[in-house]
Amino acid sequence: MSVNVKASTTKGQELYRRAKKRIPGGTQLLSKRPEMFLPDQWPSYFSRARGVEVTDLDGNSYVDMSMMAIGACVLGYADPDVDAAVKAAIDAGSASTLNAPEEVELADLLCELHPWADMVRYARSGGEAMMLAVRIARAHTRRDIVAFSGYHGWGDWYLAANLGDDSALDGQLMPGLDPAGVPRGLKGSALPFHYNRLDQLQGIVDGHRGEIGVIVMEPQRGETPAPGFLESVRALATEIGAVLIFDEVTTGFRMTDGGIHKLLGVDPDIAVFAKSMANGYPMAAVIGRAEVMEAAQSTFISSTNWTERVGTVAALATIRKFRRERVAEHLKTIGTLTFDGWKRAAAGARVTIHTEGLPSLTHFGFEHPDEPALTTLFTQEMLERGYLAYNQFKPSFAHQPTHVAAYMTAVEGTFATIADAVRAGDAAARLKGPVARRGFYRLTS
Ligand code: PMP
Repeated sequence: MSVNVKASTTKGQELYRRAKKRIPGGTQLLSKRPEMFLPDQWPSYFSRARGVEVTDLDGNSYVDMSMMAIGACVLGYADPDVDAAVKAAIDAGSASTLNAPEEVELADLLCELHPWADMVRYARSGGEAMMLAVRIARAHTRRDIVAFSGYHGWGDWYLAANLGDDSALDGQLMPGLDPAGVPRGLKGSALPFHYNRLDQLQGIVDGHRGEIGVIVMEPQRGETPAPGFLESVRALATEIGAVLIFDEVTTGFRMTDGGIHKLLGVDPDIAVFAKSMANGYPMAAVIGRAEVMEAAQSTFISSTNWTERVGTVAALATIRKFRRERVAEHLKTIGTLTFDGWKRAAAGARVTIHTEGLPSLTHFGFEHPDEPALTTLFTQEMLERGYLAYNQFKPSFAHQPTHVAAYMTAVEGTFATIADAVRAGDAAARLKGPVARRGFYRLTS
């Protein structure tokens, strides 16, 4: 492990200033905006990423103990097995007038891993696959209204929930998403409920008898399902003839070989995978029961780039390695070590934190009114110690217990600084730039 941090992240910051003039919003993904982590200081761009290490444009190398490509690189960066399969596919030609046979192989594998599913369609990103899934579900039921919980991407069907009522998504994962550009005619077509609140879902169903065609949710994320909750949602969907969609874009291929729903004992009608299934290569899959999936033929769903070969081959290689190497067990071990380490470091430094999330999708938060400044200070201090670090950590197969141990030594030092800042009440003054931003907002400079 060669951590090599110079003082400066100048080149990345300069490029990002240029980007904001050319690319509305600066990046293609909200969660990769430098302002989300450390405004004016975050390295912003990478030149190389391998294993757990990322090198920025200024030649600094960091160990990534943060988001690992926002959850996409579950095996680690530039995984040799996945990349060998991808390179072979590129050498053999990644696109042609004929189809890639691996599409069928991958469909078989996904259905083998999820025996309730019979058919598969592909896309190349999570939000796009969710749009596809909702279209199929609406086409199957011929009903427009979607009841949903949580975050599901940038699609019109989803942002429609915010039309005419700014706070409709409050308490969901992404409050305040702006629905500008989403047709006002979609108002009332997506109705939110909170996870574990069967009463809210029941209220939506009662208020729209015969109109709810789709129920969309993550089977589990932050909260553990209350006893009977998922079973009751399943029973309600069946009772009213709605398609139950489990969004496994983030939870899939993290806790087990496939969707987390396999551990929870409740099967949906459709499940959607994206991030972890292809270790960072663009790939997404919508799997489902034949009766529902057949509706994909009664509507028009078709796109050229969905047929390329790299994503499909990367998914096959990723999933096979995930199974072969028992990656889910590894992720849970690394995540559990991280949870324990954060708690120990916080107790040692006398800072109050909470921890939450699945062991393969970990999170901590400072319990203090100045939390945003403290979290920003955490990222700043950790960057100087050679880490990309945030209040979330998404473990990968490339992370070893030795990485966690070294990271925890850095966390202990950082938490001591944070304890000083809390005592002195000067966290914001210790920052070399502004406090990190959260959620959706318009970039103005
Ligand atoms: N659904 C869930 C549950 C997600 O976590 C995300 C991404 N954070 C998406 C959908 C959207 O996926 P993508 O960013 O690949 O469009």
